[in-house]
Amino acid sequence: MKFIDSHCHLDFSEFDANRESLINACVAKGVSQFIVPGISLAQSQKLLEFKATYPQIRIAAGLHPYFLEQHQQSHLESLYNFAKTNKTQLVAIGECGLDRSIFNLEKQTFLFEHQIALANELELPLIVHHRQSHDLIAQSFKRCRPKNGGVIHAFSGSIQQAHYYIKQGFKLGVGGVITYERAAKTRAVIAKLEPQHLVLETDSPSMPLSGYQGEVNTPLHIPNVFDALYGLKPNSDKFQLAEQLYDSCSDVFCI
Ligand SMILES: [Zn+2]
Repeated sequence: MKFIDSHCHLDFSEFDANRESLINACVAKGVSQFIVPGISLAQSQKLLEFKATYPQIRIAAGLHPYFLEQHQQSHLESLYNFAKTNKTQLVAIGECGLDRSIFNLEKQTFLFEHQIALANELELPLIVHHRQSHDLIAQSFKRCRPKNGGVIHAFSGSIQQAHYYIKQGFKLGVGGVITYERAAKTRAVIAKLEPQHLVLETDSPSMPLSGYQGEVNTPLHIPNVFDALYGLKPNSDKFQLAEQLYDSCSDVFCI
C-alpha cells in the first residue's frame, strides 16, 4: 500500500536532526509523498529550496492565521508575486483560514479571502485551517467562492458541515484525532463519508496519535491513521480503501 501525507510541516525545526533518515524511513513504510504547507511569506519562499533538496516533498504557499502578527498587508502582494512566478512549483495556496482562538478575526478574514482569490487566479486548490470557525469560513466562501476546491485540514465538524464542504469541491483531512475514543463525534462523521472525499494527514510535528501523546508526531504514523480509518469502515476492502485515499489526494493536488 502507498500513502501520501497530505499535511505535514516537515520543514519545522523539530525535524532538523533527522529529516533525511525520517523521510527515507517513511518511504520504506509506503508513505512516499508529503505535502508541506506554507505558513508565512518568508517560510513559503524558503520552501522552494526545501523542495529542491527533497524530491518527495510538494509545497504550498500561504499565510497561516497562527502567525497573524508576522503577516503585513504587503505580504499579500509579495505572496501573490511569489506564487505567480513559482506556480509550477506549488500544489496549493495555504495553509490559510480562520481561527477563533486567535485575536483579530477582521485581519484573518482579509488575508483569507485574498488568498482564496489568489488560488482562484492561479487555478490552485486551498489548504484551509479552521478552529471553531465553520460558520465564518462559509461566510467567506459566499463572498469569495473557491473555484478549485482543496482540503479542509483536520476536519472536525458535523455531517452537514462535511457535506457543505464536499459540495464546495473540498476534501476533508483525516488525521490522528480519529485514533482517540473520545473523538466519537468526528469518528462517526468520518465513518459515514465516502473515501473519495477524504485525505490522510498527520499535521506533524503536532497532533500526536492516541498512545503517542507528548511525542513529536511524524508522517511515519500515516499507516496508523489509515488503520484507524479502516477500523471505521470495516466493510471496505483494505487495499482498495488505501488506493481510493491515495487517488483522492493526488486528485485534489494534481500530483
Ligand atoms: Zn498545519
